[in-house]
This record gives sequence, C-alpha cells and structure tokens, in this order.
Amino acid sequence: MHCPFCQHVDTRVIDSRVSDDGVTIRRRRECEACGERFSTLETIELKLPVIIKGDGRREQFDARKLRVSFDRALQKRPVAEEQIEASVRAVVHQLRMTTEREIASLRVGEFVMAELRRLDHVGYVRFASVYRSFEDVADFRDELDRLERELPDEGQLPLLQDRMPAEKKTPEPQLGRSGQRSTGSKDK
Ligand SMILES: [Zn+2]
Repeated sequence: MHCPFCQHVDTRVIDSRVSDDGVTIRRRRECEACGERFSTLETIELKLPVIIKGDGRREQFDARKLRVSFDRALQKRPVAEEQIEASVRAVVHQLRMTTEREIASLRVGEFVMAELRRLDHVGYVRFASVYRSFEDVADFRDELDRLERELPDEGQLPLLQDRMPAEKKTPEPQLGRSGQRSTGSKDK
C-alpha cells in the first residue's frame, strides 16, 4: 500500500485488530520512507449471487422484490413487521452464504418457503401454491427438451438442469427381474 503522505510504494503493518463485529480489520501502518503512521480498514466483501430467472435471464438480486414476495404471501396475516424483516434478512444471509455467483430464482423460492413455513402457515400455503405450479418452469423444460433433441451435442445444456427444481422422476416400469422371477417359478 502506498504511503498517503509521501507516496512511497511500501508501508509496514505494525498492528492488526479485528473489530468487535468480526467483519472489519483495522491495520496500523508505518511508512518506511517518511515514518508517518496511518490506519486502514479492511472489510470482508460478501457479494450476493446473481439471480437466474425461470426463462434463463439474469437479474441482480433485489431485496425489495424479496420483501414484496413476503408481503403478498402475508397480506392481512397476523405477522409482525419485525418478523418479516428478520425473515428477509435470513434469506439474504442464506444467499450470501452460498458460494455460487449465480443462483436459480427457484432456490431463492425454497429459502422463502422455509421462512414462511415458520412464520405463518396461511402465508406459506399462499406462496407455495403459486410457487409449486411451476408453469413457467414447465415451459422452460419443454423448450430445453426440444433443444436437446435438436442439438444433442450442445455442451452447456446439461448445466441447465441444475436450475431445475428437484423433480419426482417417474420410475421405470418394474417389469425386469421381479417379473421374470414370478413367471419363471412354477409352484405346482
Ligand atoms: Zn511516507
């Protein structure tokens, strides 16, 4: 770090202290050239991931939109303002904790549902009924399936599956081993 007094290119750290909240480090520095002392503050940078919408568009995370989702679900419900704010903060915190740079809006929805389930069951059902319909996602999936058929070697398509919600896979018809065994056994 350059000295702010003489612009010398090198300064020496003579003391480091972590702030009480644990997110800031204060460093006392001394210039080797002019001997002046000064302090620097380092703050941990926690970036929020970019949101991937259902149609694949990217969007900067907006806490106000998150708040609107809570407000809609909890309209006329007996939930205190502070509780809603705490839930919004909890979701933002979870987003910060993901180390990913991008996150599917559906996963944000999962965080919201977990909070609503705790806060208010009516609000939870309201949100889940909209969220679980997956209409736009189903459309997106159809489009992906179409693309996969047309471009079987398109390398990035499998990555898109990560954005899909956990799906209940239809089990393959169980006509294999058990079926053979029952037809093959003769009890008479
Ligand atoms: Zn200096």
